[in-house]
Amino acid sequence: MSTQMSMQAKQQVPFVDLGAQYRTIAAEINEATSRVIQEGDFILGREVRLFEEEFAAFCEVQYAVGVDSGTSALELALRAYDIGPGDEVITAANSFIASALAISHAGATPVLVDVDPFTHTIDVTGIERAITSRTKAILPVHLYGHPAHMDPIRQLAEQRGLIVIEDACQAHGTRYKGRRAGSLGHAAAFSFYPGKNLGAYGDGGMVVTNDREIAKRLEMLRNYGQQEKYHHQSRGFNRRLDTLHAAVLRVKLKYLEKWNAARRWNANLYHKFLEGSGVMTPVEAGGAESAWHLYVIRTAERDVVRDHLVSRGISASIHYPIPIHLQPAYRDLGYQRGDFPVTEAHAQQILSLPMYAELTTELVEYVAKSIVTFLSANRNSQGSYEQLVRHATPSQ
Ligand SMILES: *Cc1c(COP(=O)(O)O)cnc(C)c1O
Repeated sequence: MSTQMSMQAKQQVPFVDLGAQYRTIAAEINEATSRVIQEGDFILGREVRLFEEEFAAFCEVQYAVGVDSGTSALELALRAYDIGPGDEVITAANSFIASALAISHAGATPVLVDVDPFTHTIDVTGIERAITSRTKAILPVHLYGHPAHMDPIRQLAEQRGLIVIEDACQAHGTRYKGRRAGSLGHAAAFSFYPGKNLGAYGDGGMVVTNDREIAKRLEMLRNYGQQEKYHHQSRGFNRRLDTLHAAVLRVKLKYLEKWNAARRWNANLYHKFLEGSGVMTPVEAGGAESAWHLYVIRTAERDVVRDHLVSRGISASIHYPIPIHLQPAYRDLGYQRGDFPVTEAHAQQILSLPMYAELTTELVEYVAKSIVTFLSANRNSQGSYEQLVRHATPSQ
């Protein structure tokens, strides 16, 4: 261990720190939640409607429908477009499993496609190859907060008559060529899981769209298939966003741009401190403005780097260690190891570093220097950038 490192005292760096965020807005949150409780307005209350209006405006779209999770948002969006049994929906092999589960829960079949080695988002030529006569929709994921390559995806969808549903569950505030995630397809799904850029104190989600008819369908689907109480047009669900969560999210939405700017600041600090370290740092490509939900590096030494970080009090995580096609839950889709080489290589190399708005410069530096010092001490076994790229590129 170098003198520089040994001089730096060991610190605790959590992966996210929801307590730190709460302390900055506690008075407002407490006021909002106690107001809802006193008013007794718990189900589809005024706060839900106001939050829907405010979140739609944030996404630069016309309609937003609050639901109980991001997974529900994806599933109900598919159902609203009548996508179900016999239909295929194309999504990325490296995503949180909920992208595929939502397709399955709607009754359709997920068709997986590999990802681009630089942006970690769905590979467009792969989508083209995966389209069949049964394909109904493309479900691109703005993974880690980085937008998918939406122009070619939209163009392809238009040519083939397909619906595009954005999985924007990690992309609150992301922009693509100046436009907000949520406004880039026919509809988009957001999650308000506590650790997302905009998180509730429990589960929540939202579908956004510019299609009035689809928004109406979603309002029925989430609420027992009724428009008017006890008059049921369809066999809907109970998948509503709770008023308490909406009240919390309204408070937090006011700070989202500021928090995302702090994430961006921290991402730039990581870029700077990790330069020349041999790890591959994340990029913003093709008109992307990431929401920096996660800061994901790549290194051939991933497992030992992670162990070292843990020994230094730092929580780092892997998104995701097992690709969807290799999960037991999806064995019946018939995919094999080797089907998605980039996704599979990434699963061995990716490491998500602590990332949240309240993370201090001092802690970012501590995390980055812990990596730099460790790797330079292990220089001979270190994978170079070129090796990583070669490793992650499908063989011709
Ligand atoms: C979080 C997440 C979901 C699911 O959202 P939940 O609110 O947890 O149901 C779906 N897709 C992606 C990419 C996510 O990160």
